[in-house]
Parts: sequence; C-alpha cells; structure tokens
Amino acid sequence: MAAMLDIRTSNGKLITIPWGLFINNQFVPSLKGSTVDVQNPWNDEKLGTISAATLEDVNAAVKAASAAFSSKWKGIPASARGTLLSKLATLIERDAEVLATIEAIDAGVLYGDSKNLNVPQAIDTLRYFAKLAGEPGGQLLDITGGYAHVLRQPYGVCAAIVPWNAPLMITMWKLAPALAVGNTIVIKTPELTPLYGQKLAQLIKEAGFPPGVVNIICGLGRVAGQALAEHMEVRKISFTGSGPTGRSILRAAANTNLKKVTLELGGKGASLVFADADLENALFWTSLGSTAHNGQVCALGSRIYVQSSIYDKFIQAFKTRASGQATSHGDPLNESTNKGPLVSSGQHKKILQYIDKGRDEGASVLFGGKALGNGNFVENTVFTNTREDMTIVREEIFGPVAVIAKFDSEEEVIHKANDSEYGLSAAVFTSDSSRAHRVSQALEVGTVTVNCWGMLNANTPFGGVKQSGFGRDLGKEALEEWTTVKTVKHFLLGSAKL
Ligand code: NAD
Repeated sequence: MAAMLDIRTSNGKLITIPWGLFINNQFVPSLKGSTVDVQNPWNDEKLGTISAATLEDVNAAVKAASAAFSSKWKGIPASARGTLLSKLATLIERDAEVLATIEAIDAGVLYGDSKNLNVPQAIDTLRYFAKLAGEPGGQLLDITGGYAHVLRQPYGVCAAIVPWNAPLMITMWKLAPALAVGNTIVIKTPELTPLYGQKLAQLIKEAGFPPGVVNIICGLGRVAGQALAEHMEVRKISFTGSGPTGRSILRAAANTNLKKVTLELGGKGASLVFADADLENALFWTSLGSTAHNGQVCALGSRIYVQSSIYDKFIQAFKTRASGQATSHGDPLNESTNKGPLVSSGQHKKILQYIDKGRDEGASVLFGGKALGNGNFVENTVFTNTREDMTIVREEIFGPVAVIAKFDSEEEVIHKANDSEYGLSAAVFTSDSSRAHRVSQALEVGTVTVNCWGMLNANTPFGGVKQSGFGRDLGKEALEEWTTVKTVKHFLLGSAKL
C-alpha cells in the first residue's frame, strides 16, 4: 500500500494522493530520501511533502521504461495502445472534479477553468491520439528495380519535462502521442505543481498500462530534469518551459547522446485589431487573451496593436471591460472568484518588477499596476504610450500585464508584430477575409487565430518558430515528433542495376 498524502481543501474536500515517485507502476520513495515541499500558490504555505527524484531515481525510472519497451510494450498491438489511452481518458473524465480541485489548490488555476477547459482538453488529446494509434504514417515508394517502405518507428525510451501553468493538459500533449506510436516514457512533473502527476499516476495504473510504460517523477529541474536531459538511454525529450531551460536541455543532449529534442518555449503574442474588426468581438478576445490564467499562458496576447482610427474608442472600452473582469480575487476553488493567485511569491515578485520597469522606461499605466490584497495577487495591468524597444514590449512577463499601442497601416503592424524573437502565436481581428489571409501568411508564428484568441484543438499542431522553440505538440504532426524514420528497400531478384 502506497504512503498517502492527505490535503483538506478550503471547501472541505479531502484529497488523498500517493506521495511517492511512480516507477514501474509502484509508488516508491526517492532512493536518497529526497523530498520537495508542495506550496499553496496564495501564500507559499506548505500543502504537503512528496518524493523528489535524484539521479539514482531517474536512472531507476529510465531502466523501468527501457525494460517495458523491450519486453512488453514493443510487441503490443497498436489497437491495444489506443484502448489504454481511451481508458485513461475515461478515468480522467470520471475524476475531473478531483483533478480540477488539485490544479486549483496547487497551481492557482480557477476551478471552473480547470474543469471546463484544461481537463477536457487533456481528455480530448487522449481520445484523439487513441484513434491515431497504429497510424504513424509511413510511405510506399517506387524505386528502380523494386519498392521502398518508409517506416515510422518509436524512439524507445522518451522523456517529457512539463511546466507548472497547465500541467495536466501539457502532460497529455506529450504522453498521448508518445504512447500512441509505441514509446515508453518518463515524465518529470514541475516541482511547483506536482500534485496532478501523483493523481494521474494512480489513474495510469488503474487504466492497466503495463509497469514501466509510464513513469512519473517529480523533482527539481536542475537535478531530475538535467539527469533526464543527459541520460544516455533516453532517445527523445520533449520540453515545455522557459527559453533558458530549453537551451540547457539542448546543450545536455548535444553533450551526451544527441537525443532528439523538441522545445515548446515562451511567447510574446501580438493581437492585431484593424479598424474594420467587430469591436465587441475584438474586445472580448483581446481582454481574455491578455489576462487568462493571470497571464501565465505561453500564447498570451500581451502586445495589442490597434489601428489609429479606433484606438481611443478601443482603449476606453477595453478599460471598462477589463476592470469588470477581475472583480473578485481570492480562492480559486470558490465559484465567485474570477482572479486566482499567481503560482508563487517568486512569480509575484518578478511581475511587479516588470511593472516597475515599464514605469521606469516611461510607459503609462492605463489601469492596474499594483499588488492586490494579501498573497500572490497582482492587478490586471495595461500599459500605453510604449515604445517597441521597452522591456515590457520585448520580454515575456508571464503575468497579467499587456501593452496597447497604435498602428496606421497593415505593413507597419506586421513589421511590429514580427519584430520579436518569439514566434508562438498571434491573433488578427478584421472583417476583411482577404486581409485576414494576407496578414496570417505574413506573421512569423506557429499559430494564428483570426477573430479569436487561444483555442486549442487536439487535431491542430501547436508550437513555435524563432526562439519560441521547434517541434509540434498535437495534430498528426505530433506523431512525427515521436517517431523516427526507417527506409526499407525491396529489390526483385536480379532487377537492381548499378
Ligand atoms: P522552466 O523552464 O523554469 O521549467 C519548466 C520545467 O523544466 C520544470 O519542470 C522544471 O523543473 C524543469 N527544469 C528547470 N531547469 C531544468 C534543467 N536545467 N534541466 C531540465 N529541466 C529543468 O519554466 P516554467 O517557469 O515552469 O514555465 C514557464 C515557461 O514555460 C514560460 O516561458 C512559458 O512561456 C513556457 N511555456 C510554454 C508553453 C508552450 O507550449 N510553448 C506552454 C506553457 C509554458
């Protein structure tokens, strides 16, 4: 019987989850007895303690994944892999309330957002890839004297390193395609929000995945994450997180076994609002797109460019709308709360420093700009009168801070939107479909949404260009990311000629 951690929530629920590392379908303590404290995002108070992986535990998890790949998983029919993914989706659906509660208490995500958006997205992802199991593509080609099969095969042991902002959903973006095509996996959950991983591990076991196919370990990035990135038996690593960590993982892969790396990094999304846009619609999406989950969203539309002729009207309406958006900050489990806490005091401090920097560099605060009450809350903040070289315009803040600036021509706003080292996402608001098409083509990003913001779909690829990373989660493209290519050439006897 695994040792359990009990957490009593503010609304009187009892969450009981194992606190060990999940290796070979067992919950085990760290071999060196290492632990990590899990903190309440409101005030950093301790919620509990769970095991944290060190190098020895990472080695054990990789060994389990390797044994599972060579013995059981490799030979299992694709349809059986799909069935297991579907079962996991059903179990997550059954336990959606518990998982949403965990995301609320651990990551500060509003309970309703987690239950209605993050958890369903995780389920959709599993169901989408369950159907694609056995469809990793491949081709049959004509060659002189015979034919060639181009096969797509799993890498073997893979790893995933996940950030704290929407951990369950992002874990599924990696786990589902990786398993659908026949890999085994070690998942390192974020040390700031690891509790979802403990619950998920229980569901993996209940779904009936063979031991070692999925291993879930929490641990510090520079310890467990680094050990995975350097591991000689891990053949592919998929990372979502910050640019500096992405670079460190790339270096670790280069210095060790040249494992395949995919990186989903940060963003500084632009929202382009043209004068011909439906104003109400643009206001709705740009205000949501710059404040959702307290701005702790990689695809945030934190640079809003508005055409000059509607700028004043837009600014007034945006201010009214945004001030009505965060009227009640507090407990993310409480249904009346519309603004939860940031993930940690570190994040709180970092965001306030960015706001100070914005003021120091001469931008004007349209609204917000202060800490909110006690705990890790910051007002939704918008700056105007910005210059393109200001820190708050160039750097990812990962908080509820946006800038609004004017533009005159289409050409000018495309230039401004592309004048960024980031290239994850952008949004275009216009009622002119030719313009929508033209501008979408010209934007240097991985995803453009037209007359809308966000919108993740399991069947559409998601990822970045430039320093937002490379590789894609979701969509059929993800299957390619988790497979390697083998060419097999068949020649009819005597027909191959030099
Ligand atoms: P982070 O880079 O600090 O941490 C991400 C993960 O990497 C954590 O699990 C952490 O433990 C681990 N890690 C840290 N140092 C490591 C190391 N040296 N080696 C291996 N692993 C290490 O990022 P974060 O603060 O958790 O997340 C915020 C960042 O993630 C933002 O930049 C955000 O834009 C980005 N993000 C991107 C996407 C996307 O899909 N593109 C989605 C969510 C978040």
